[in-house]
Amino acid sequence: MNERVIATAPGTVWFVGAGPGDPELITVKGRGLIERAGAILFAGSLVSETATRWAPAGCVVADSKDMTLEQMSTWLIAQAARCETVVRLQTGDPGLYGALIELVQPLDAAGVPIAVVPGVSSAMASAAAAVESLTLPEVTQTVIFTRVEGRTPMPEGESLEALAAHHSTLCIFLSITLMGKVTAALLAAGWSPDAPMVVVHKASWPGEEKIVRGTVATIQALCREARIVSQSMIIASPNLGARQWTTLAKSKLYDASFTHRFRRASVPAADLVQDTP
Ligand code: SAH
Repeated sequence: MNERVIATAPGTVWFVGAGPGDPELITVKGRGLIERAGAILFAGSLVSETATRWAPAGCVVADSKDMTLEQMSTWLIAQAARCETVVRLQTGDPGLYGALIELVQPLDAAGVPIAVVPGVSSAMASAAAAVESLTLPEVTQTVIFTRVEGRTPMPEGESLEALAAHHSTLCIFLSITLMGKVTAALLAAGWSPDAPMVVVHKASWPGEEKIVRGTVATIQALCREARIVSQSMIIASPNLGARQWTTLAKSKLYDASFTHRFRRASVPAADLVQDTP
């Protein structure tokens, strides 16, 4: 009667953030999915160790390095017809510079269910490596994730110079080979040549991480000297180096004179301001 070929119910393709490099920086949920995956497609050398460390025996593991987008979606669809759990493993968080939507669309069109598991972005891992806070009270409360224009053009209004005009924290991805452009944009936006910058190469990679501290004026030469040419996060922020500051505006959340939802003030304050933390 029914002449359609009915495929077995397809498995789910999980887009999992592998974290920034250290295989232990994957989420518990992501690791659990890898441990029961029938197939894993990983993105490049950065995440291969995570894939191979937690994958079960018999799991089909492939590197997407040499595949086109179409080959990747074809591979994922074929694996989803065969096994219940398919993992697409991406560096950091899948929602940042990861071609997530381009891969989800063909899976949607093929009727393959998908889900995304977030990951620790290299921006977070780089700040952690350098013991920096991306936000600080009364200095900057804003973080911009961006890149400079390379082969991918920047949308209108998103030049680094325009974004840097906010003088907030900038986490600049994919731009280590364009450091000259980065520092020129900061100077054009009014940053001082003495403003601090930090570059973290291979954040969280055991034994391979490098941290270079400098200023807008010096960072390019320092990175060149350290032979840093790939896999690096550039951070420019008025918060950098705050660990050494002697004058610091403290967060109201832990202020003894400040009352909030979870704690009453233990000392009276002259001008108590109720605020949501
Ligand atoms: N989705 C990833 C970003 C992928 S784009 C994330 O959330 O981190 C690749 C860029 O990320 C690199 O050019 C570099 O700027 C940055 N990056 C990735 N891993 C890194 C690491 N371990 N240390 C420093 N930067 C890293």
